[in-house]
Amino acid sequence: MLIGSLVACLFPVVGTKGDTASTTVGSGSGHGGSVGTGTVSPEVEERRWDCSGMTGADPAPLGGRVALSFDDGPDADVTPRIVDTLRRNGVPATFFVLGERLSDPDTWPVVDDIVSDPLFDVANHSWSHPDLTGLSLADVEAEVVDTTDLLATFGVTPTFFRFPYGSTDCARRDLVADELGLRVAGWQVDSADWCYAAMGAEGVCTREDYWRVPEAYEADMRGWIVEQVVRFDGGVVLFHDIHDYTADSLDDVIADLRDRGFTFTSLDDLTAFPLLNAGTPADLPYLGEPCDPSADACWQVEFEAWCDPASDAGDGVCTLACEGLCPDRDGAATTFCATVPSDAGQCTSRAEGINQWCDAVPGTEAAWTERFVGASGEDDATVEACIPEAW
Ligand SMILES: [Zn+2]
Repeated sequence: MLIGSLVACLFPVVGTKGDTASTTVGSGSGHGGSVGTGTVSPEVEERRWDCSGMTGADPAPLGGRVALSFDDGPDADVTPRIVDTLRRNGVPATFFVLGERLSDPDTWPVVDDIVSDPLFDVANHSWSHPDLTGLSLADVEAEVVDTTDLLATFGVTPTFFRFPYGSTDCARRDLVADELGLRVAGWQVDSADWCYAAMGAEGVCTREDYWRVPEAYEADMRGWIVEQVVRFDGGVVLFHDIHDYTADSLDDVIADLRDRGFTFTSLDDLTAFPLLNAGTPADLPYLGEPCDPSADACWQVEFEAWCDPASDAGDGVCTLACEGLCPDRDGAATTFCATVPSDAGQCTSRAEGINQWCDAVPGTEAAWTERFVGASGEDDATVEACIPEAW
């Protein structure tokens, strides 16, 4: 088993949301601690779409269609179990393989089996699963091309690439998408299976283990998956075919979703995932930006953001529960973790030129607001932020 297999596709991030953002949101943004200048370069304005390798390209709602994906294999023991379960249920899936594992002859029988079955697709997940934002562009290219070349010996020309940990930036995304011709596949639904699996057969993942899993679901991976699929009305689900826990749970997960009326499709389903298959990520509104509360279409995967009603007039603003800091993104107003009346923290934007001092966020007004520090250890701060009337 690879050293990195327990952390699998995701950063082993505990608590500090802003730190995740620095590697996934883009280049060089502050972490909510800086004072916004209210100006932004034309280049940044032009790049308002999301360069993240995590966020699924297509926004919710997703028409009740679910595509399963399995990363970090192939594994000579676990992958055949997953394949059996999928085949028995007639459920398509995409396997994002690592070149390093694919070079192990023990994995070849299951890879040949996957390749020969039209129910399945094989895709590229890099050679050795590094954080590609830490490598030069030449090294990134080698990680991708070497894996594509090895896949060719199995008769596979991969369509999709998924960044290890979902970690990328615009330059690396452009390299993979524009120069190497692969479609960058993120996900909408994070099963967190690596975390549930790491805790053994009991399947417990606490917030301390992985902050994205809500307390209510810390012993309930199936419930956590259903909650997300319902919230997005479908989506691409991220699993890892290197954990027995994942293989043990898969039958029940499929049944849970079928019971609720969801149908399974493949990642290359153009009608289910049009932006993914056009190679174009959605430009979802970011934290503090206006949104439609009935669509819940915020830049939502990494940080579980949601579209909160801002006023009685149907306005909404993208927000996220926070302590201390909120992640920033280039081209969006600086965020702020505001104290809300229930004495909790929710992200909003500061009043800045870029949001016309809140005029560009209908249903909000600029108001002096205290930071919600919580257990973050951040300094107290009071800034002028765009506060929804509904808060
Ligand atoms: Zn991975």
